Amino acid sequence: MLRLVRAEMSSIKKQATLAKFFSSKKRSVEEEKSHEPAKKLHSDPIGAGSGSPSSSPPLATGSSDAGSVKVETSATSTGENTKAGTPTLPDSDEPAKRAVAATKGDPAKLGASAPKDSKILYAEMCNVFNEIEGTSSRLQIVKLCGDFLYSVLLKARKDIVPITYLLINKLGPDYQPGLELGLGEGLLMKTISESCGKSLQQIKARYRELGDLGRIAQEARAVQPTMFKPKPLTTGEVFSNLQAIARSQGKDSQLRKVQLIKRMLTACQGLEAKFLIRSLESKLRIGLAEKSVLVALSKALLTYEHNGKEPSSELVDTAEQKIRDAFCQVPNYQIVIETALEHGIMELDKHCVLTPGIPLKPMLAKPSKSISEVLDRFQGQRFTCEYKYDGERAQVHLLPDGSMRIYSRNGENMTERYPEIRISDFIADPARTHTLILDCEAVAWDKEKNTILPFQVLSTRKRKGVAVEDVKVRVCLFAFDILCYNDEPLITRPLAERRACLERALVPVPGELQLASEVTTMSLDELQHYLDQAVRDCCEGLMVKILEGEESHYEPSKRSRNWLKLKKDYLQGVGDSLDLCVLGAYYGRGKRTGTYGGFLLGCYNQDSGEYETCCKIGTGFSEEMLQTLFDRLSPTAIPTPKAFYVHSESAPPDVWFEPTLLFEVLTADLSLSPVYKAGTSSYGKGISLRFPRFIRLRDDKTPEEATSSEQVVEFYESQSHVS
Ligand code: ATP
Repeated sequence: MLRLVRAEMSSIKKQATLAKFFSSKKRSVEEEKSHEPAKKLHSDPIGAGSGSPSSSPPLATGSSDAGSVKVETSATSTGENTKAGTPTLPDSDEPAKRAVAATKGDPAKLGASAPKDSKILYAEMCNVFNEIEGTSSRLQIVKLCGDFLYSVLLKARKDIVPITYLLINKLGPDYQPGLELGLGEGLLMKTISESCGKSLQQIKARYRELGDLGRIAQEARAVQPTMFKPKPLTTGEVFSNLQAIARSQGKDSQLRKVQLIKRMLTACQGLEAKFLIRSLESKLRIGLAEKSVLVALSKALLTYEHNGKEPSSELVDTAEQKIRDAFCQVPNYQIVIETALEHGIMELDKHCVLTPGIPLKPMLAKPSKSISEVLDRFQGQRFTCEYKYDGERAQVHLLPDGSMRIYSRNGENMTERYPEIRISDFIADPARTHTLILDCEAVAWDKEKNTILPFQVLSTRKRKGVAVEDVKVRVCLFAFDILCYNDEPLITRPLAERRACLERALVPVPGELQLASEVTTMSLDELQHYLDQAVRDCCEGLMVKILEGEESHYEPSKRSRNWLKLKKDYLQGVGDSLDLCVLGAYYGRGKRTGTYGGFLLGCYNQDSGEYETCCKIGTGFSEEMLQTLFDRLSPTAIPTPKAFYVHSESAPPDVWFEPTLLFEVLTADLSLSPVYKAGTSSYGKGISLRFPRFIRLRDDKTPEEATSSEQVVEFYESQSHVS
């Protein structure tokens, strides 16, 4: 308890310090006075013999038309500007502070013409949303978005970060807790009804017809008489209010949220209500995926850096790659954008580097169907086979203040879930180890028998607020990679070197923290034998990884062919399971009466931001699981399918749901289908799963982390009869 209170206090202190830091930093950017030379955070490359005491013993070896945006300029609104126009971004913590500190350079160098006191009206942004909504060409969407971002850079550079977040419909980095909106339809209907002069019945009836609360709010506002013309909303204000709504907690929080929404709704004109309500629902549904925003942002920043000159397509590609790489290492738009503005995009890799306390996007593996496929792929290269443990990914960070954080696969802070783990207990040389980042799998552990327990046992552990004395299911961490040591990023070191560093940095303790079992062999027999042994040892199979050379570098966020997963169960099948989002359900009959008997599942199209149906599933569920699913899903039921569900009209489910839950499923094979829609853009027809079987819930993934349409197409194409 005392530890928690202390942690809370220190976090509050850090937030305050960083808020101060950001505001003073912003001032200095705006004043454009600082000419401090570029400073690098991590100036001591390991193994380069710089002699710094923090060098690790473990590594001893080794111009477009901006006029389209109307800008409100007011000499008297500086106060409000700081409050709303430059919202304090949520990333107020120590790691972000350190990361941003590393970017301190010459703010005057780039984009020197940013005006000091401009605001981008929310109406301007809604016009862009509307244009994007009416466009189907991806290139055109990226252009619209890029032109808008560029004009923001010219007119109100300080707004570029909140505006980028509004475009992707997020309020801060994914790893920052408490920034989710996704307000329920009930609350929004009530609020629209109360502030737009319509009865709740009228709103509900219209919703059944339209299925879009945004359009309903827009219609209601359009016919509502107003006495005074409201003061126009600015993007900064909207962003700050959305943050305040998301953060509002505890007693009366519902009331505060409703009041804030009402205040904004009353100021909405034209298209604004539509997009405001959709943002509050957490889905803009204009076909703008985060991937496209990242491309548009790269183009805008590059054009700005080149003072409006159109950069060559080669340069645009390089810039895009640099920004993507930086974002994978530091998934925080504020840090990436500010660093790019201060140092230039081409310098991002020097200044935007792994930072303990900021979870990087983990490297992912490609599925593989047979040992011979693995040998073909890695022909002539040294590779290693590690046990593939069946638990949950755990990225363990040791911070300079000695504290520790554990992040899940999607960057969620899970430290609270594992109160019994203290990474400091396993460090070989505590005096000389200040920071590190490990990639591990957390696995349930049987202390009596000293063996690994199945994943299902781990999933019975509570996710939040776990007290040490209540821990019943023990966990052992299996470390398989080290990504950063004493602030030195290691991801561009060969795996063999990283592994040597891992071995030197840690002192394993059986049943608490162990190094992943591994073998390095080129022999098919040995590989087969090792795979069998892994399965006997309660693992899912093997992870096969290249050991040396550039291909063995750690590639954050990438599903790489340099890591192959070989799961015993899936050999010769499709190669892997799929994680699909539950979009709807069919009522159960017979023994299943009273619960749902089948479910409609979909994959996620990362380009369009839509869910595409790919099968109906009714196999693999225990009665208990069906009850759990009924309890979890029925509160998320919606009267009509979301506009961003791509489905056919034939055999609609009895109930549609908000996208909240993923099922891991296995399939015999995949085939083209007239009914389902996965990957329609590739084949004209959709792809569907044949004989899908439920394996488990994927609570560690967000709906948008469902298997992508692109992956479904890859699975389909990798089947021997197709290829
Ligand atoms: P993916 O992570 O590839 O999207 P997934 O989440 O369904 O898919 P799996 O297909 O089971 O997971 O395989 C990848 C996961 O295996 C990793 O994310 C990691 O959590 C786990 N894992 C277990 N052992 C290892 C290991 N030795 N090396 C890398 N990952 C491992």
